Amino acid sequence: MISIDPESVPDSTGHFGSYGGMFVPETLMTALQDLDREYRAATADPEFQHELDGLLKNFCGRPTPLYFAEGLTHLLGGAKIYLKREDLLHTGAHKINNAMGQILLARRMGKTRIIAETGAGQHGVATATAAARFGLECVIYMGAVDMERQALNVARMKFLGAKVVSVTAGQATLKEAINEAMRDWVTNVRNTHYILGSALGSHPYPMIVRDFHKVIGEETKRQILQIEGRLPDHLVACVGGGSNAIGFFHAFLGDPSVRLTGVEAGGRGITRGQHAARFQGGKLGVLQGTKTWVLADENGQIELTHSVSAGLDYAAIGPEHSYYRDRERIAYDFATDDEALAAFQTLAKNEGIIPALESAHAIAHVIKIAPSLSRETLLIANLSGRGDKDVQQAAEFLLQAP
Ligand SMILES: *Cc1c(COP(=O)(O)O)cnc(C)c1O
Repeated sequence: MISIDPESVPDSTGHFGSYGGMFVPETLMTALQDLDREYRAATADPEFQHELDGLLKNFCGRPTPLYFAEGLTHLLGGAKIYLKREDLLHTGAHKINNAMGQILLARRMGKTRIIAETGAGQHGVATATAAARFGLECVIYMGAVDMERQALNVARMKFLGAKVVSVTAGQATLKEAINEAMRDWVTNVRNTHYILGSALGSHPYPMIVRDFHKVIGEETKRQILQIEGRLPDHLVACVGGGSNAIGFFHAFLGDPSVRLTGVEAGGRGITRGQHAARFQGGKLGVLQGTKTWVLADENGQIELTHSVSAGLDYAAIGPEHSYYRDRERIAYDFATDDEALAAFQTLAKNEGIIPALESAHAIAHVIKIAPSLSRETLLIANLSGRGDKDVQQAAEFLLQAP
């Protein structure tokens, strides 16, 4: 196993090995460099970390529990399964960790207007929440298709005072919403901060977003050492852009005995246009500011993607994931829509926890591997969010009409 020094990546220009970088129009270069400089200053400022820690604790509900999933462990009859309960955070998912961090950065930079893109709506809700908390103007770009799938989150954003802009171009999902947000940022960069929602896009976003989520893995490590007196054997997380996964894994990258597995969206199966598993049918490319694995055709055109979970439905994976995949430090697998829906039902029935459909992909992987592992194996899944937003959609698949 190659030794890993997570502190050394990315380099100063945002490269994770040969991945990452800054593939943006000239007009955004200064804004991104300003953001990088401000971020580095903030991380060296104890007052910044102190304020963020206070908000994470008292407003967001950190630390989240590390919960022994007795029902699921018993059902599967193998590994001892724990769940990191990011679903219990304010607004219902891990996304608030990053939104709170970035809103404090925006305030340091004197920005008065916040924009963001959103897929499932969770990042839009987290951003609108953070903006409301600090009285900043907020505009959220969202694909028209996602607005329909996630109507509840659209209403939440509106109650929080955000303006939600429907994006109808192309596939009308996350990719198009990001394009619109970038366009807005180019135009309004002087007073506007763009809170990007995953470990994606141009440098410094993949680094900043990861760092604001590192708390997930740091807490997990402390908690499992306290509960079990040793490191876990295996961590599992779902991977859309990759923020919950990299935040969960980061504190364990230098522990070679801990296996790390990211689970992508297998959709209706690994055929072109029917999934969002970049490491299954993808190739090296550049999308929306970063060089990484993408789903594209022979001509480099971005392909259509599909997943039952809007939060995993994106053609590129965060560049840091491409790097650790090459180094064989993180392994990647996928779960299909059907497997995720079955896991959603299984966790609800056996554990009393309704997971987000995104998180259900991680649970589906746990259901696959746990039975053949020994009872001494410690397996931890990151429960990135709760399933309230997905109940209506899941009901269409899983509940029989009376
Ligand atoms: C957005 C979202 C994801 C996917 O995003 P990552 O950046 O890959 O973490 C996963 N789970 C939930 C609950 C989400 O809201």
